[in-house]
Amino acid sequence: MPAEEAFVGIGSNVGGSIDIVEAAIAALAGLSRTRLAARSSLYRSEPLGEIEQDDFINAVVRLETELDPLALLLELQAIEHAYYRRRDEEQRWGPRTLDLDIILFGNRVQHDSHLTLPHPEFTRRRFVLEPMLEIDGDRFIPGHGSLSYLVEHAPPLAMEKIATNDD
Ligand code: ATP
Ligand code: MG
Ligand code: MG
Repeated sequence: MPAEEAFVGIGSNVGGSIDIVEAAIAALAGLSRTRLAARSSLYRSEPLGEIEQDDFINAVVRLETELDPLALLLELQAIEHAYYRRRDEEQRWGPRTLDLDIILFGNRVQHDSHLTLPHPEFTRRRFVLEPMLEIDGDRFIPGHGSLSYLVEHAPPLAMEKIATNDD
C-alpha cells in the first residue's frame, strides 16, 4: 500500500499530561510502516462539556503511513492502553490519561462501527484545528473548506500554546 497522510489528535488531562503527550508522540514516531512527518507544539485547552475536570494538554501530528485506517486505529488504542487508559471506567468526554483520535486519513470518508473519517467533531474543535494549522499551514479539506476558514468559524475555546525551550 502506498503511504498515506494521517492526522492524529492527542489529548490528556490526567497524570503528568505533558510527559504523556510527548511519550505518545514518540510512540507514534516508532510505529511500523509509519513516519512522523510533522508535530505541533503542545497546547493547553479548557475542557468541553459539563464535567468538572482539569485542562487538557493537546497536540496534533501528521503521519505518513502504509497502515490502513483500521490498523492505525488499533495501534492508537494499543498506545492508549500503554498509558493506563481504561475505557470502561471512563465517562465519555470525561478525564482521560490519553486519547488518540484519527482526524483525517488521506481524503477518506468512512462511517462504520469502528471508525468515522474525517473525525466527526474535528471542525468544531479548536484544540485540533489550531495545531493542524500550525504544522500544515492553510490546506483545503475536501467537503469542509480551508483550515483557516474552519479555525475562523469554530466555537470559541480558551487555549494557549505552551512555551517550550525553543520559543
Ligand atoms: P470523541 O470521538 O468525541 O473525541 P473520545 O475520543 O473520547 O470521543 P473514545 O472513547 O476515545 O471517544 O472512542 C470511542 C470509539 O470511537 C472508539 O472505540 C473508536 O472505535 C471510535 N472511533 C470512531 N471514529 C474514530 C476516529 N476517527 N478516531 C478514533 N476513534 C474513532
Ligand atoms: Mg477524542
Ligand atoms: Mg478517542
